[in-house]
Amino acid sequence: MAKLDKDAFNEHIFSRINNLISDYELIKEGELIAVALSGGKDSVLTLHALKNYQKNLDFDLVAISVDEGIEGYRQHGIDSAIKNAEALGVELIQKSFKIDEGFDLDDIYSNFKSACIPCGVFRRNILNKTSYELGASKIATGHNLDDEIQSFLMSFARGDTIKFSKFGPELDVIHPKLIPRIKPLWNTPEKEVGMWAVINDIDIHLEECPYSHLSLRAKIKEFLNVSEGKYPGVKSNVMDSFKQILTFENDINSILNECEVCGEPTSSNICKACELKDLINNQS
Ligand code: SF4
Repeated sequence: MAKLDKDAFNEHIFSRINNLISDYELIKEGELIAVALSGGKDSVLTLHALKNYQKNLDFDLVAISVDEGIEGYRQHGIDSAIKNAEALGVELIQKSFKIDEGFDLDDIYSNFKSACIPCGVFRRNILNKTSYELGASKIATGHNLDDEIQSFLMSFARGDTIKFSKFGPELDVIHPKLIPRIKPLWNTPEKEVGMWAVINDIDIHLEECPYSHLSLRAKIKEFLNVSEGKYPGVKSNVMDSFKQILTFENDINSILNECEVCGEPTSSNICKACELKDLINNQS
């Protein structure tokens, strides 16, 4: 691709991210932002974009990677996270299920309908605890436009409309120990994230997780991609519909407690991570 095209594309993608950050005031001066860095294209672009945004605003960055313990898959992601963090001069904190929870995902996934259930719960838990310990104001995740649409449809499919409160480019502070999340790629299509990585020759982790094909998300992603191929505009229509019916207000702040076992924020008496650990211990 010609240099001019590359520069124009970078300008296009970074401007949209910068505008989203400033329109929604996702980052404030002086904050420490923790980037959840898996090494995949979305989290790597998030790190590059926030590093770039430091030209506009004085704030600090740190990156956190979590090794879930998926043999033959995760290490390349960690390598990519290390390389990108080093190249940008951002400190990377490396965490793992093994050290923090005492097991790899490979050891415990068979206790669940989908490996993504414990994977998501423990990863979020580790990211939140680590960010809290670091004193981070927010966690930036690599959720892109496609992820957001998939999550909307997954909530519908599961009849779990409480999750609607988790949509939108930012989640407010709802508990002092729950670090709010921001999604700088919230309105960036996944296809453009891939193009950015390719034209800039960015070192990213490209392999698919061996457990991903079992997930509801994978089925919904396939459905959306096939529909978009046949009827262009489907994805943006779904997103526009959701924007019209949702206000992105968080309505769960009044029901958050602290887990009776570990003290982490939870909407129940026992947090999901402790509930799953109990299940794992009883089955092993
Ligand atoms: Fe974890 Fe599922 Fe993602 Fe694999 S696809 S990394 S199991 S959430």
